[in-house]
Formats: sequence, C-alpha cells, structure tokens
Amino acid sequence: MGGFCSQPQRSAKHVVIVGGGLGGKSMAGLADTAFAVTLVEKRGAMIYKIGMPRGLVDTSFATDCLVPYDKLMPNGGTVRTGVAVTRVDGSASKVHLDNGSDLSYDYLILAVGARSHSPCEPPPNACDETSTAGIIEYFKKVCEEIKTASRVVLVGGGPVGVELAGEIRQAFGAEKSITVCHSGPAPCHNQQGIDTPAAFQKKLLDACKAQNIDLKLNVKADLSTPAVQEQLAQKGYATGDLPITLSDGEVIQADMVISCIGATPGGQTLEGVTLDGKGAIKVNEHLQVEGFDAGNVFAIGDCTNTQELRLSGTAAGKYKMGMMGATGNADVVFDNIKAIEKGKKPSAKIVQPPKTAMMIVPVGTHDKKMGAVVAPVPNMRHGTLMGFKQKDYFLKIQRDIMNAPLSAKK
Ligand SMILES: Cc1cc2nc3c(=O)[nH]c(=O)nc-3n(C[C@H](O)[C@H](O)[C@H](O)COP(=O)(O)OP(=O)(O)OC[C@H]3O[C@@H](n4cnc5c(N)ncnc54)[C@H](O)[C@@H]3O)c2cc1C
Repeated sequence: MGGFCSQPQRSAKHVVIVGGGLGGKSMAGLADTAFAVTLVEKRGAMIYKIGMPRGLVDTSFATDCLVPYDKLMPNGGTVRTGVAVTRVDGSASKVHLDNGSDLSYDYLILAVGARSHSPCEPPPNACDETSTAGIIEYFKKVCEEIKTASRVVLVGGGPVGVELAGEIRQAFGAEKSITVCHSGPAPCHNQQGIDTPAAFQKKLLDACKAQNIDLKLNVKADLSTPAVQEQLAQKGYATGDLPITLSDGEVIQADMVISCIGATPGGQTLEGVTLDGKGAIKVNEHLQVEGFDAGNVFAIGDCTNTQELRLSGTAAGKYKMGMMGATGNADVVFDNIKAIEKGKKPSAKIVQPPKTAMMIVPVGTHDKKMGAVVAPVPNMRHGTLMGFKQKDYFLKIQRDIMNAPLSAKK
C-alpha cells in the first residue's frame, strides 16, 4: 500500500547545473527532488554575497558566509566544487571542465552569475578560489586593509557602497573618514532604470548623515590612474597615497579606494554560448538559451540578458529563498523541464520588465532607522525586514535552507 505522502517518481535523466550561487543552489535543491543532479561550482564553497558588506569588516562573519554544499541535496545529487566549466558542446550534450574531463547532460542549467567588481567577491586570480581557505585569506586581507586605512573612499552609492560604508563605521568607530562617491542625486536613487521613492532616498541620506558618512552626489570618481586601475583589477580595492579627482573638479585624498560598482557576467568565461553585447547569456522568456535547438539548455539569474531585477529572489525564487515568495528563475526552469519530460512544450515564463524597485539597505547594524526599505509589502513589514537584514543579512536563514546551520553558539 502506498504511503500517505508518497514520493513523486524520480527520473534517471541527468540535470547538470553550472554555478552554485543563490540561483544554482536553489535549482539544485529543486531538481534533486525529481532528477539525477550534478552541480558544478568553481569555488570551494558558496560565497553568500548578500552578507559580504559585513564580511569585509568581520572575518568571522565572512567565514560563515562561505556555505558548504555537502547537505544541499538530500536525495543523492552530486556537487563538484573547485572545478569550472569552460565550454558547452550542445551537439554532444556535454560540458567540458577545466580539469580536462567532461560531463554529459540531458538538461543543462547555466547559473554562472556575474562577478561583482567589489571585494565582496575576490577578483580572478586574487586568491585560490578553489579552496575555502584561499577565499578566507583574501577576505581577511581586505578587512585588515580597511581597518588600517584612515581615509576610505567607496566608489558607488548603490546598496553595496552604502551598506559597506555603514558596516565600516560600525566596526571601526568614528575616527575613520568615510566618503561615498555616487553619480546619482541620492544614494540608491535608481535600480536598473527604476527610480526609488523620494522617501526611501531621504531615509538613506539621513542615515548616512547620522553616521558621518560623507556623500559626494552627482559626481564620477576618476579611477583611471594606473596606480588605482591596476590595483582595482587585481584586488578589487586600491591602497596607498591616492588623490581621487571627482568630475566636479574636487580632489579627495584617500588611502584606500574600494570599487562598489559593476560586475562581469559569468557567461563570458564559457565557450559555445550565445551572449549579447554586454556579455549576458541570451535566453527566451522560458529561459532557454538561444542557439541550442533541442531546447534543453537553460540559464538563470544574473548571467542572463533578461530585464528582471538582479536580485537573489529573481535567481532563486520560491525554493525556500524568494524573500517575498515570488516565482523566480529556478521555479520557471524546473516547471519547464517537467513539462518537457511529459512531452509538453515549456510554458512557464518569466515576468519582465519589473514594475517596482526592491531594496533593503541598512546603514549600520543596530538602529532600524539607520537604513531604508522599498519593497512591495506593507510598510509595517519594512521594519521587520530591516531588523532581519541588520541582524545577519539573512545568513542564518540561508544556511538553514542549505542544511548547513551555524553552530548553536552563534
Ligand atoms: C555585495 C552584494 C550584495 C548583494 N545584496 C543583495 C541583497 O541584499 N538582496 C538581494 O536580493 N540580492 C543581493 N545581491 C545580488 C545577489 O547576490 C545576486 O542577484 C544573486 O547572487 C544572483 O544569483 P546567481 O545564482 O545568478 O549568481 P551568483 O550568486 O553570482 O552565483 C554564480 C556562481 O557561479 C559560479 N561560476 C561562475 N562561472 C562558473 C563556471 N564557469 N563554472 C563553475 N562555476 C561557475 C560562481 O563561482 C558563483 O558561485 C547582492 C550582490 C552583491 C555582489
């Protein structure tokens, strides 16, 4: 007799997922319920990027932001860390790995993200990313440099720049001079072309003022001097005696400059995949990658050319991650693979372009007034969201989802 809650029948079809960030790990969790899965991740562990503004000032927190995959797939899925996919061969249904081996797939999902130009992710070759120890060494070094610097200039007043400024102030006290240079009229004034509400911008302005963070608005910082440019490319930050010229003519003196703008799409390192002019993987509304006629190659999250918001919920979706419980890319792809398996056409679609901005931006750790939220939930829940983010950037929730809880003392 069948059990009260019988398991759906599992398929022997092999789903290969490339990239174990927030999208890839959610895709893996979903696919593991129905298919044989292999997740390939070039790093030694997942870097929980959302928490890294705090991780850059607290190495113990950075260490916690490196989440192991061991128990991610309880139904037998395999994870291969420390190895990168270099090429997709659609005609042979194989991916090639940088260790010389290859993997066959029935379905392939590219979840290679976009590498932030901030030190929240180590730049290529800045450390041995294949081991967690190598990544921790990198974050430790960044933290020491921030601690030592007395004049820190952050370039980019989006969420990463503003959150990092707040964390630096909280961690290292009032003595440090902290400047944020931003090309817009207010911090976080815009998210992918959508203006944020004036009240949200005002809250962030007030929070920065209260924390003595010097905001230089409507300016661009010239980072093209060789000393700065080379270091930013190599390390994600620059140190030394660094005069930084702003577009309004002002020159500010820094001894550490941190880039908080831009990201390089992960598809640029993959051969055999069609990219748009910005290096993003070209997908249709079902998230199938252009150029693979069999329709069994998908891409999700920050590596795609969709017009969606570049957020964790977009990539990961409902699988215990979508902060707002919204359908995300992983859900769309899972539904489409199941449809194909039933002999149907893929019908699940992404919804784009987005209508509202969505951000939870703390400026410091303790006071809920130090920060601002714009999200399609009632205002009364904004305070709850801010409290969660200030506490630990949702890290505990994320680690629990990945079956990698923090030790009880934390
Ligand atoms: C500092 C920072 C703070 C953020 N804060 C927030 C926030 O508060 N809220 C929010 O919703 N979003 C936030 N985001 C955005 C969010 O992190 C991304 O939208 C989300 O991580 C996208 O998920 P993804 O799976 O598409 O890509 P990623 O999370 O970038 O994962 C891509 C993975 O693919 C791996 N990879 C790349 N190429 C290969 C290859 N060839 N072979 C094998 N593996 C490969 C990478 O190592 C990486 O692990 C933040 C981003 C940053 C940088």
